[in-house]
Amino acid sequence: MTTRMPLLFIGHGSPLTAFEDNQFTRGWTQLVDGVQPRAVLCVSAHWYTRDTAVTAMSQPRTIHDFYGFPDALYQFHYPAAGDPQLAQRVTELLAPVQVLHDQQWGFDHGCWTVMKHLFPQANVPVVQLSIDGTRKPQWHYDLGQQLKILRDEGVLIVGSGNVVHNLQRIRFTENAEPFPWATSFDQQVRRCIESFQHQPLIDYQDDSALRQAAMLSVPTPEHYLPLLYVLGASDSQDQVQVTLDEVVLGSISMLSVKLG
Ligand code: ZN
Repeated sequence: MTTRMPLLFIGHGSPLTAFEDNQFTRGWTQLVDGVQPRAVLCVSAHWYTRDTAVTAMSQPRTIHDFYGFPDALYQFHYPAAGDPQLAQRVTELLAPVQVLHDQQWGFDHGCWTVMKHLFPQANVPVVQLSIDGTRKPQWHYDLGQQLKILRDEGVLIVGSGNVVHNLQRIRFTENAEPFPWATSFDQQVRRCIESFQHQPLIDYQDDSALRQAAMLSVPTPEHYLPLLYVLGASDSQDQVQVTLDEVVLGSISMLSVKLG
């Protein structure tokens, strides 16, 4: 019998975090203390597509999808295996949504900069699920619900994004003060997660309490939507553990949470 897997949402921040040992990376590591999944299904902000796809290859490549970072980041390869059987299982669970079996993608930095800390030995197979950018938030939440059963099959679902992510407003100064709208949105999202109030989080663009702060906090949805997959796969009985909750560089929330 397999133990029911928790769910993780990780605020991944900069690619540089891959090689850092700081409060955030240590917090991520704590989230998987004692968690031994058969495989990981990762929904990364950086695989934002116009369809739904899974990585279906047995040995995914490491993608260096960023510019202007130190060489060490470009030379790093995360050697975890893929899991074509899990890719097929996801396809079955999401039907009638058509899921493409991708052979080109691999691990983008939203995935591997996090996996490097969660499973440094790369001994857990990883499949990525893309985010169809043509769909509404509710659709993504519903997909998360359809994937819930994977938790009973030894699969750890990991959403990798950032609750607040505004690169236009970023402040590259040390100890930059968070913008008030960033803190406001971050805290409201946290409260909704902790009280299992998911509908305002799905309707964040229209919800009267969230809408205003959301305009600047979520100027584009790709870093926010991974959270909805994770919440969709959760139950009201799940324990919520927010290990980290800080807005860095003024406009990036590192909020990371474990449910289950
Ligand atoms: Zn990112």
